[in-house]
Parts: sequence; C-alpha cells; structure tokens
Amino acid sequence: MNVRDSVDRALGPVAPDAGCESAAVNFAQYADGAVAGEDVSRAFPHVANHLAACPDCNQDYEGLVNCVRELAVSSEDTPPPPEH
Ligand SMILES: [Zn+2]
Repeated sequence: MNVRDSVDRALGPVAPDAGCESAAVNFAQYADGAVAGEDVSRAFPHVANHLAACPDCNQDYEGLVNCVRELAVSSEDTPPPPEH
C-alpha cells in the first residue's frame, strides 16, 4: 500500500484530475502549505494534478498564493523599512 492508495481511499473514487470544484475546496490549504514550504503536491495530489491540467484554476491559485504571501509578510514582526 502506498500513500496514493490511502489518499484515494480517503477521498473516495476520484479520477486523477478531480475537476475544478474538488481542487478548489483545497486551494486555501494548498496555497498556505506551498507558501510555508510544505510538500503540498504530496499532501494534496489531486490539487497538484488539477493545477497541472487546468489553466483557469492555475490563475485562481496564483492569485491566492499572492494573497497568502502578502498576509504572511504583513503579519511578520518586522520593523518598517527606513525612510529616505
Ligand atoms: Zn480547474
């Protein structure tokens, strides 16, 4: 038994490309994990597969990643940049 089998079992009978809705429900977690440097393609293989196949979702996902990055930056406890 490998990871893929257990994931498929947990998610039920899904095709490798699970479709926009199935991928989109995990976009937030996927973007969070990706920005944090986690192995999200292993954690959410159906999302990785779908992003590789669907340019529309890719665009949505890129926007989400940008949002997560901005939030991460603004929530960091860094001093403001020096003024010139
Ligand atoms: Zn899609």
